[in-house]
Amino acid sequence: MSTRARQHDAQVLRREQLSPHLVRLTLAVDGFASTGVPDEWVGLVVPGQFQVRYYTVRSHGAGADGRGELVLDVVVHEVGLVTEWASRDVVGDTVVVTEPKGSFALPGDAAWLMLVGDLTAMPAMARIAETTELPTRIWAQVPDLELHQGYLPDRAEVTWLDDEAALADVVAGLDWPDTPGYFWMAGESADMRAIRKHLMRDRKLPATAYDVMGYWRRAAQRQPRAVDPGPIYRAGKAQGLSDEEIWQRYDEAQHQGAQS
Ligand SMILES: Cc1cc2nc3c(=O)[nH]c(=O)nc-3n(C[C@H](O)[C@H](O)[C@H](O)COP(=O)(O)OP(=O)(O)OC[C@H]3O[C@@H](n4cnc5c(N)ncnc54)[C@H](O)[C@@H]3O)c2cc1C
Repeated sequence: MSTRARQHDAQVLRREQLSPHLVRLTLAVDGFASTGVPDEWVGLVVPGQFQVRYYTVRSHGAGADGRGELVLDVVVHEVGLVTEWASRDVVGDTVVVTEPKGSFALPGDAAWLMLVGDLTAMPAMARIAETTELPTRIWAQVPDLELHQGYLPDRAEVTWLDDEAALADVVAGLDWPDTPGYFWMAGESADMRAIRKHLMRDRKLPATAYDVMGYWRRAAQRQPRAVDPGPIYRAGKAQGLSDEEIWQRYDEAQHQGAQS
């Protein structure tokens, strides 16, 4: 059996600038089947490129013509392959998206949710918060004030963090409820590695109680290599690894890519 992820061609139907650093792209795609997992992501290959970048499925559904539509919210940062593409008028472009995968795994006894993340985590945090009935607290580090209104669902209790806040300090200072719950977080990979260690070693949380994912790598000297989380996730699941162990493997694979 082929290990290649299934791929779909998709056309960019709409491009909307939600804020200076966040662009919403609506893609028309046939045959897309959501996993239903609220932090699901797809691989995206933009025209003229072969390298994949990963984006959360902010929402999906049927368009007016009955065709499937997929919404991705793309961070445009200083320089990057997708960043440069998405900064232009890309309506009408054909891209490739891979089949979705998700990682969020709410334990049955969870009584609350705590979500922490930077701008890249906003699409997942918004979708998670709108698909749960559990009390939800969010700590969001975003550079754009425009996103403070309306991007995250009103039902969530949101704390906005400025760029100066170190996410590790924010997590270390959290007031944890006594009841069981679920902690979800995504952001820069090295920061996430440190936070994962803190949750494991200092807070001694069971691996099923949290999910901490490195979404991007701050480049030191070398351009990081994008590593497809899909095969690592599938292989890890097949071996019975926990999500935490799988995301550690993913971090290591990204790290090795940056060194090579
Ligand atoms: C499961 C998963 C889900 C994700 N969901 C989203 C999402 O919904 N929206 C989203 O925008 N991103 C998301 N990301 C992160 C996104 O894949 C990376 O930020 C990606 O590197 C962006 O690609 P690029 O082509 O713009 O930049 P690249 O060509 O990959 O990188 C170019 C340079 O920019 C730096 N860089 C990369 N990302 C950032 C950033 N966010 N801020 C500052 N510097 C950066 C790199 O260190 C590098 O030096 C997700 C990642 C994963 C693994």
